[in-house]
Amino acid sequence: MPKDEWNASAIDPTEVPRAVREYLDTLDEAAFGAASTEQPKFTSHSDPASQWTAARKGPAFFSYSDNYLIDTDHGVIIDVEATRSIRQAEVGSTKTMLRRVKERFDLHPERLIADTAYGSGPMLDWLVKRNIAPHLPVIDKAGRSDGTWSRADFEWDAENDQYICPEGHALKQFRRNYSDPNRGPTGKGTARYRALKEVCQACPSKTKCCPNAGARKITREETEDARQVARDIAKTHQYDISMKLRKKVEMLFAHLKRILGLGRLRLRGPCGANDEFLLAATAQNLRKLAKIFPAAQQTRNA
Ligand code: SF4
Repeated sequence: MPKDEWNASAIDPTEVPRAVREYLDTLDEAAFGAASTEQPKFTSHSDPASQWTAARKGPAFFSYSDNYLIDTDHGVIIDVEATRSIRQAEVGSTKTMLRRVKERFDLHPERLIADTAYGSGPMLDWLVKRNIAPHLPVIDKAGRSDGTWSRADFEWDAENDQYICPEGHALKQFRRNYSDPNRGPTGKGTARYRALKEVCQACPSKTKCCPNAGARKITREETEDARQVARDIAKTHQYDISMKLRKKVEMLFAHLKRILGLGRLRLRGPCGANDEFLLAATAQNLRKLAKIFPAAQQTRNA
């Protein structure tokens, strides 16, 4: 059904099958309904929690996402979480799994390795605050396509709460007093830094820096410190190793689809997806553990 015709509040939970009841039950869960306020383009009548997805530019279909947390030494799956197939839900599942393995197994990883989808400021901040080193590429939209200097060309001076431009001048944070607090110069959690107009006007590098503005301005997100931690880690040798180790989780998903044939689910609803993903992960772990701890070799009597 197209999104403008779908109305979840009109569904009578007493008259619908289990998968639809589960959809209603998970509308407020971070892994499903609450992951995004954006309605999918189409919703399935028989399994409304599944997500209409156009994966890798192929034909669209209804799907769930299988999320794994694995240990990189052995490739053992530590936790599994089924979610809607949208980035917010998949990224959120990492927090759920990290909390759960801490509660159940008292496991607290030194670092988390993941791909760019997980590199948003809030996610990095969440990890850094829990002393988990983020080994993942930072999502950075501060780059410029017109060849002028981007924020990365400016040095951050944390002690004095200012940026230093390539010409050595300070960009200070500026605030204005507005009668309406919602009319501030920037959105919530963002600070804005500005160079002095007279300095920029006389600067020999102005055309490379701010050709169309009186003075250079730079914004800084609330989570910028955590993003910088991730950028610094990305320059280390350990990060290069981490990026190779990341392939271990991709190999498990490839094995899941190609060898175990889990390209299609047999059960409907969030619980059905979760049960199938959990069983498949158990099978993969048993296979893995059999390799790590082979049966004692039988000795042949002479
Ligand atoms: S234009 Fe202003 S901010 Fe940019 S390099 Fe020159 S002095 Fe620094």
